Amino acid sequence: MKITKDNVFYSFCNKNEPAVRVDAPVTMDFETMDCFGNQLRNPEDVMEEIDWDRINPATGPVYVNGAQPGDALKVTINSIKLNEKGTVCCLNEEGTLGDIIEGSHTRVTPVSDGFVHYQAKNGLTVDIPIKPMIGVIGVAPEDGLDINTGTPGKHGGNMDNTMIGEGVTLYFPVAAEGALFGFGDLHAVMGDGEIGVSGLEIPADVNVTIDVVKAKAPQFPVLETEEHLAVIVSKPTVDEACQTATELMEQMIAERTDLDLPDIVMLMSLLGDLQICQIVDPEKTVRFVFPKKYIPGLSF
Ligand code: CA
Ligand code: ZN
Repeated sequence: MKITKDNVFYSFCNKNEPAVRVDAPVTMDFETMDCFGNQLRNPEDVMEEIDWDRINPATGPVYVNGAQPGDALKVTINSIKLNEKGTVCCLNEEGTLGDIIEGSHTRVTPVSDGFVHYQAKNGLTVDIPIKPMIGVIGVAPEDGLDINTGTPGKHGGNMDNTMIGEGVTLYFPVAAEGALFGFGDLHAVMGDGEIGVSGLEIPADVNVTIDVVKAKAPQFPVLETEEHLAVIVSKPTVDEACQTATELMEQMIAERTDLDLPDIVMLMSLLGDLQICQIVDPEKTVRFVFPKKYIPGLSF
C-alpha cells in the first residue's frame, strides 16, 4: 500500500479526514514532499515567492482501526529513499542567527552516492555523508487541539530529531480515535539544533510498519533502537524540555526495573545523554538517550 503526496495535511487534529483506513499491523509506503511543499527545487526559486500556506506538508493521515486514546502507536521506519536533490536555506529573523542574516538564501544541493554535495558561494565544495531523518512525524492530539505541522509537542510533530531515521521505532501517545498518523519534512542531513532553521530539505519515499500497543500511551514520544531507549520532549524552553525529559526517563527506568531512585539517578548521570534536537521551532525539543545494554530488560 502506498499513500502519495496528493494526501497531505498541515495540522495535527482529530477533525482531519483520513487518507486511508488500515488494520494494524500494516507495512506501507509514504511519498513525502519537502518542508517547502517542493516549491524551492531549482536555483531560481526564491523564498519571497513561495506560498506559505503550503509549508510543512505531512503525508496522511492514516486512520488505524482499533487505535484508541490511551494506546501507543508503534511506528518502525524500515527504509528511506531520498530524492536526488535537496534544499537548505537561511533567512532574516529565522533561526539562531536570524538577527544577523539579511534577506533569504537557498542552496539547491545534489545528493548522490551517499553524500550531500554542498557548494559554497566561494567555490568550496563540502561532501557530507547522508544521514536521512524525518523532521515532522506524529498523531492527532486530544480533542479541541489543532497543532500546525511546524510545531512539536506531546503528539510528536516537528521534532527535528536526527535520531528519527532508518531502523528506529517510535511510540506515540494515541489521543484520537484511529490515531490519525502522518509524517513529512525529510532531511538528507541535519546537525543537532538545526540552528539555521533547515536541514537539507528533500522529498522522499519512506516505508514504515505501523502497529498498536494497547493501553501503553507514553506521555511524550519514545524512540527505541537496538542500543538505545530515548524520550523526546518539546517545551517552550530548552531548560523545561531538559527537566521533563530527565523526569520521564527516570520514570521509564523505575517502571521497568527494581532499581531504587538513587541508583537510577546515578546511572542516568553516568550513562544517559541529554541532547538537543532543535532550538528553532515554536517549541524547543530535546531527547534523553539511555543505552539499554546496562540494564537487563530495559525496553519500551
Ligand atoms: Ca522541521
Ligand atoms: Zn525540515
